[in-house]
Amino acid sequence: MYASPRAAEKDVAVLKKLAAGFSKKYEGKVEKLSGDALGMAVGEYEKISTLSQRIGAYAFLYFCTDMLNEKTSAFYQNISERLNEIFSGLLFFTLAINKIGDAELAKKFKSSAKLEKYRPWIRDLRVSKPHQLSDDLEKFDLEKSTTASAGWVRLFDETHAALKYDFRGEALSNAEIFDKLSHADRSVRKDAAASVSKVLGENIRVFTLVTNILAKDKATEDKWRKYKKPISSRNLSNLVEDEVVESLLASVKKSYSRLSHRYYKIKGELLGLVPMEFYDRNAPLPSADDEYIPYEKAVDITLKAYHDFSPRIAEIGKKFFDNNWIDVPPKTGKESGAFSHPASVDAHPYILLNYLGKTRDVMTLAHELGHGVHQYLARDQGTLLSDTPLTLAETASVFGEQLVFRYMLEQEKNAKKKKLMIAGKIEDMLNTVVRQVAFCELERGVHEARKNSELSSEEIGKIWMQAQKESLGPAFTFRDDYKYYWSYIPHFIHSPFYVYAYAFGDCLVNSLYAVYLDGMPDFEAKYINMLKSGGSLRHKELLKPFGLDASKPDFWQKGLNIIDNFISQIENL
Ligand SMILES: [Zn+2]
Repeated sequence: MYASPRAAEKDVAVLKKLAAGFSKKYEGKVEKLSGDALGMAVGEYEKISTLSQRIGAYAFLYFCTDMLNEKTSAFYQNISERLNEIFSGLLFFTLAINKIGDAELAKKFKSSAKLEKYRPWIRDLRVSKPHQLSDDLEKFDLEKSTTASAGWVRLFDETHAALKYDFRGEALSNAEIFDKLSHADRSVRKDAAASVSKVLGENIRVFTLVTNILAKDKATEDKWRKYKKPISSRNLSNLVEDEVVESLLASVKKSYSRLSHRYYKIKGELLGLVPMEFYDRNAPLPSADDEYIPYEKAVDITLKAYHDFSPRIAEIGKKFFDNNWIDVPPKTGKESGAFSHPASVDAHPYILLNYLGKTRDVMTLAHELGHGVHQYLARDQGTLLSDTPLTLAETASVFGEQLVFRYMLEQEKNAKKKKLMIAGKIEDMLNTVVRQVAFCELERGVHEARKNSELSSEEIGKIWMQAQKESLGPAFTFRDDYKYYWSYIPHFIHSPFYVYAYAFGDCLVNSLYAVYLDGMPDFEAKYINMLKSGGSLRHKELLKPFGLDASKPDFWQKGLNIIDNFISQIENL
């Protein structure tokens, strides 16, 4: 995107000029523009947004690979502040669009194809209309956010990135120590868990403070913006109805006993650990191959599996490897976990991994590549329409995982190994569906309780333990030091209530995958079309070509039944 931070800085000056010109041209005049003129204005706004995303993405990605370097983090902070300031000056535009009356707007759409093109963007913009504050307050809120909520998020990130976990005399990073929690040797898991508990426990005051402040910050904002429940603003930005989400959460909770409780009982027996401790949750199954999978092989598997489904999708996936769009190995100061960043529509997505050579890491690669392909295909929608809501953002990633899993399962001829692979898949699905819903329960508990008063780390720990016990079931005992583990999960801090999107996406894809297995004609073309439509369609419209509907009560059960069937399969093997 840029050769150096200096080049990005130069573009900030260009952006500033463009934004100033835009304001001069349109401020105070938006409501009176004709349909065509408004269409043109949105087009100009989109160009400015594209440049801003390009600069912002560069600064963010630069920071993510070198978080402990003060120069890098200062650069990132500096760029964020300047972009924020520039966009604060453009806020009048979206606010003014929201002030246009419905009838007036309908007339404008009718009169102009230019404007019609942006209909989905304007439609989504206007969902926040009832929650919008006065122009001045919106501006104030945006400008304050870098030193308010975003500042606390940064404290959380930098604290975590700097943490060192002692493991038998060796100082490990976050990614390395958590990897040890899925080690075959129980004593390794136990020692790693003790080290995690110790380090999180020593820092729990900071994490408790950050959590409390952000929850209060959100409650204040929710109050001003008149959101009913803490989860409501997320549902709105996910463009999904409160009832659909409630139905998902209730369906999953109702399925705890037939899914997670039932599976972990089998796992405990397979491991000979009855009961299990929390650090046995991710223990590898007996005689499961702990074989190291070189990255080249992971790439080969992923591309072949993608190719069997769709040569076109594999071809796009291959670009990521051929052009070096992926940052692969773990290192100190690098963001933990994995993600695919869409960057900007005139560049290309970037993937960040912390590849360690486990089967899980191959699945993560398949997952992030799905995101990457989705983001790549959606670019043609342009900056304003390419972004999918969170609930649909996980579609291609989870589908990609399914493809790679089925491919690896077919390659495996040994029945016992097949059984273990299915068990592994069940675990992944439980982690995506049940665990994320349990995370969501923690968030609901914390945000509800925070309304009344500041929470102690003990109180948050209690809510966490409760949600974990309910979801994991009687196969586990829970040692007291597990109470700190909520504090390492970045989603709670970065984007409250993000987590249910994983469950949403997984269940949705399970249903979609079932349609594919049933041999629906033109599935591939329909699927690619779905990815290409980016954020222009809602879930109802998107699923319609596949004969699916998330607002129907049996929809979620259909997805959950796939996990249930897998469990029955291993019970019978
Ligand atoms: Zn994802």
